[in-house]
Amino acid sequence: MARLKPEVFAGRYKEGQLVAVDGKPAIVVGECRETGYYFVQRRDDDGKVYTWKEYGGRIKHYTYHCWRCHSVIDSSVHATCPACHWVICPECKACRKPVCEDDMLETGVKPVNANNNKFDIDDIFDYF
Ligand SMILES: [Zn+2]
Ligand SMILES: [Zn+2]
Repeated sequence: MARLKPEVFAGRYKEGQLVAVDGKPAIVVGECRETGYYFVQRRDDDGKVYTWKEYGGRIKHYTYHCWRCHSVIDSSVHATCPACHWVICPECKACRKPVCEDDMLETGVKPVNANNNKFDIDDIFDYF
């Protein structure tokens, strides 16, 4: 399969939006100056928050079913809750199960060194 041009992915994802990278949820921190690349963030299995640079072609919209009413949710059309970063259900307005809670992810920060692949949140100080 031909690799799509980076321009294809520019402007596709918004800051604070829930997405999927490698099939796992992540939050878009912001768009990189480099066309088609984004900074994304996730609390990993080790409990630490990681922020890294990701190619737009590896990022997918997050789709699932609402845990409460089973409506289809899709982060490309439905808003992501700014506190818990779950997609807000368009039908019943539910976000995180069982209740909304701040996940303490810090969107709006970007890595100091954008060339490394993965970052510990402690290494990040440069705010937009
Ligand atoms: Zn619902
Ligand atoms: Zn919420």
